[in-house]
Parts: sequence; structure tokens; C-alpha cells
Amino acid sequence: MIDSILFWHRRDLRISDNFGLARAFDRSSKIVGVFCLDPNILQGNDVAPARVAYMIGCLQELQSAYRFAGSDLLVLQGKPERIIPQLARHLDVTAVYWNRDVEPYAQQRDRAVSNALKEQGIEIQTFWDQLLHPPGEVLTGSSTIKPYTVYTPFWKNWIRQPKASPVKTPNHLQGLTEDERAAAETVGEIALPSAKDLGFVWDRPFVLEPGEDAALARLETFCDRTLFDYQEQRHFPSLDGTSCLSPALKFGAIGIRRVWQAGENTWERCRSDEARDSVYTWQQELAWREFYQTVMYFFPELADGPYRNPWLNFPWDNDENFFQAWREGRTGYPIVDAAMRQLNETGWMHNRCRMIVASFLAKDLIINWQWGEQYFMQKLIDGDLSSNNGGWQWSASSGMDPKPLRIFNPVSQSKKYDPEADYIRRWLPELSSLDTKDLVTNDILPADRAVCNYPEPIVDRSVQQRKFKALYAEQKTLYGNGRVQ
Ligand SMILES: Cc1cc2nc3c(=O)[nH]c(=O)nc-3n(C[C@H](O)[C@H](O)[C@H](O)COP(=O)(O)OP(=O)(O)OC[C@H]3O[C@@H](n4cnc5c(N)ncnc54)[C@H](O)[C@@H]3O)c2cc1C
Repeated sequence: MIDSILFWHRRDLRISDNFGLARAFDRSSKIVGVFCLDPNILQGNDVAPARVAYMIGCLQELQSAYRFAGSDLLVLQGKPERIIPQLARHLDVTAVYWNRDVEPYAQQRDRAVSNALKEQGIEIQTFWDQLLHPPGEVLTGSSTIKPYTVYTPFWKNWIRQPKASPVKTPNHLQGLTEDERAAAETVGEIALPSAKDLGFVWDRPFVLEPGEDAALARLETFCDRTLFDYQEQRHFPSLDGTSCLSPALKFGAIGIRRVWQAGENTWERCRSDEARDSVYTWQQELAWREFYQTVMYFFPELADGPYRNPWLNFPWDNDENFFQAWREGRTGYPIVDAAMRQLNETGWMHNRCRMIVASFLAKDLIINWQWGEQYFMQKLIDGDLSSNNGGWQWSASSGMDPKPLRIFNPVSQSKKYDPEADYIRRWLPELSSLDTKDLVTNDILPADRAVCNYPEPIVDRSVQQRKFKALYAEQKTLYGNGRVQ
């Protein structure tokens, strides 16, 4: 009898370049996959319909990949700590394998599942898959475990470490016997539901089609056409200057080793220093993702609030009307509103604009950045606790980043990065007939605003800035700028 393995997929929705799955396949070809629709996640208040629809699309493809290889992906609905051990027992598997995750909830859930499996005497094997360097691999010089809290030294060390190549794909698997399938059904195996069945409606196009095929195709086009100019073009939200691979990286529809390898291969093909700098810059972005996941692993308290003292009791205005205007893209600041409309309509927002709207919410509207963090999670197709929290804490200056106050001016950002107002016109079609200069500098006449049904600026930035800086200075004097204890 060969060992039979249950492989639990979570944010690794592919069979190729999947570290844990490849290790399972080294041991046995009798592998069945399982995915658990977890009410703790799906019934939370930070779930985006676009993200659920993308995930279901990835699961469809994953299920086909399993079937093509000769096995199956079982779908269950319920609390993992209850149903994974139940399924393992009913299938009488030798071991359960999975790839680890950094998020606090995932770790707590995995501990509960491990304990239940151990009680049943079932072997567990876990691996790191979603990062090129798992937490603990890139540490500060000392011999004790001391994680980095600042990106630049982390990056310098991270880039020097050798990176693993993609791992092999299981190509022939043994599926379930009829008895085993019947056993799976008793545990509550269900047909894969649609996002709508789960209560999430997403009927707009995806910025990236779900599944590994689409992610691989995107990676290839990006590396062939866009990556050489990334360093320059990534700043301009009206251009397709970035990879848009973030949803695939969030759900592991593509393997990170494969992504890395594609970047390295592109580097080999570069014919200019500019092109090489572009690849290098993109690699730095991939390292930001790893940095944020690593700090979330070592400092899980980041998920709950600010890292720095001045923000713990910050007297935010938290004006509900301002928050609504921000959410709807009706603040009267065109670049901010264009970005929020892009988010609402596509489930994705360009990185520069994420920084602009985040700064505007915290520092111009004086609204708690955590409100924005949550709204992003309710909308983003790539919504990811570590990157989103990292991006918000960076923008709000509440995070680890040592630079104290970073304030984005929407007008200078527009002038520099949307000088022809292409992005503004694309997402605010009501303003498309107005002068480019007026759109960029936000010098739109009240009469024009009225005709276009576009609001006056909801705040005077200079007044808000004065107020914000005074509040910040006060908090800093009271509590210092150290780490929240
Ligand atoms: C306030 C705020 C919130 C954010 N929320 C998220 C989020 O929920 N999920 C998410 O994946 N990214 C988030 N980001 C980071 C970044 O905006 C997106 O990763 C990026 O826009 C995705 O587009 P892309 O795939 O075309 O990126 P590319 O420019 O092609 O970069 C390649 C990959 O590197 C990673 N990456 C790039 N920039 C960053 C960054 N600054 N931080 C972390 N990883 C990065 C992403 O995985 C991305 O897919 C946020 C940034 C800010 C400022």
C-alpha cells in the first residue's frame, strides 16, 4: 500500500511550482487536494466580491488541473479545524500536507488543525511556499532571531541570498476510490459554488483573469513588453506599466519562484542599463511583498493597529460624510476621485494612487487610516492583510518606516504623474471636456463643477494640514515616536 496524502490548499491555488505539493509527490502519487470555504474568512466584514470571484475562478482551474492529473480537488464548507481532521479520518490518509502562511488568523487556525490531527495520530507536514525567503531566513546580523523592521537593510540582505528554482509539477496522480469518494461526501464535500452562491456578486471584467494560465500568460507578456521600461512607466497610472499580477500572487495562482525566474531571464535579455535598472526595481517591489509578510509574521500586532505611539490615541476627526465622499470618489480632488472610482469599478488601483488616496484620507481628511485599510479590503481583488496593512501604515506614517511625516499633495502628484490628465479623464468621464491644466491643478471653476455635477473640494488642504500637523506634534510630545508596547 502506498501512502495516501491529503493536500490542503489555501493561498497556493495551483499544482505547478507548489513547494509542499511537490514534496508530497516525492513521497506518493496518491494525493487528493482539498479546499475549505472557511466561514471565519467569508463571513468577515472585509471581504471583496471581486476577490471571492477571482478565488472561485482559480479553484475551478485548480480542480481541472487535479482531474487532468488523475485525482481531484475536494471542496468543503465549514470550520477547517473541524472538517479537515474529519476528512482526513474518513479518507484514512497517512498524512496531511500544507504550505504555511504568515497571517495571525491563519497561524491560529493551522495550530488548531494540527492539534486535532495529532490527536488522531495523523502525520502533518508543512512547508513555506509563498515567499522566496520565508520568515527567519533573512535576519539581521546577530545570531539570535532578530527580524528587520526597516525595508532597505532587509532588501540589501534579501537580494544577496540565493533564490530557489521552480519545483516540479505532479503530473500523474491516483484519485479516490469509490469508497473514499463516498466517505468524502459524508464529511460534507460539495460542488464548487459560484461567488454568487456565496453571496458575492462580481459581474465586471477582472484586471487579471483567474487561474494559473492567465497569470503565466500575463507574466510572459509583461516580461516581453513592459518590464524593460518599468522603472519609468510604473509611476504613471494611465499606463499599463505594471504587471497586475497582485491577485495571482495573493492567491498563489502563480508560483513565486517562477515569477522570480522570469525576471532573471528578462535581466539576461536586457540590452541597456535602464532596462536592467527596471528589472531591479521590479525585484525591489517583489521584496516589499516579502518584507510586509515577514514583519506581519514577527509582529502580528501590526494587524490590529499602529506600530508607533503617536497614533495609538490619535484624535481623528472621523467625519462620516468625508469618509463617504472619499469612498465614492466625490472629494472634489480629481486624482483622488479618479483613483477611488478605479477601485470601485475594477477592484484594483494603481500603486501610486493607493499612496495618494491613503495619504489624503489620513492627513487631509484626518480620518483613521484603519477605516481606509478596511475599505480597501472590502474592494481589492488583491486585498492582502500584510501588503495592505503595510501600505496603509506606511502612508499614515504609523508603521515601522522611520520617516516621520509623508504627505502627498494631490496637485503635485497629478502634475508629475498624470500631466495630460488621461487617468483623471478615464475615471471621471464627467470632467472629460475640461481643460487639462485645470484638471491637473484642480483649478476647476465653480460653474464648471456645477455643470459637470462634480463637487467643490470638501476640505481646504492648507487648513487641514495645519490642524493635522498640530495634532501630530501634540501626540508626539505626549507619547514620543517609539514603538507601541
Ligand atoms: C495603501 C496601500 C494598500 C495596498 N494594498 C495592497 C494589497 O492589499 N495587496 C497587494 O498585493 N498590494 C497592496 N499594495 C501594494 C501595491 O499597491 C500593489 O501590490 C500593486 O499596486 C499591485 O500591482 P502590480 O501587480 O501591477 O504590481 P507590480 O508593480 O507589477 O509589482 C509586482 C508585485 O510586487 C508586489 N508589490 C508591488 N508593490 C508592492 C508594495 N508597495 N507593497 C507590497 N507588495 C508590492 C505585488 O505582489 C505585485 O504584484 C498596497 C499599497 C498601498 C500604498
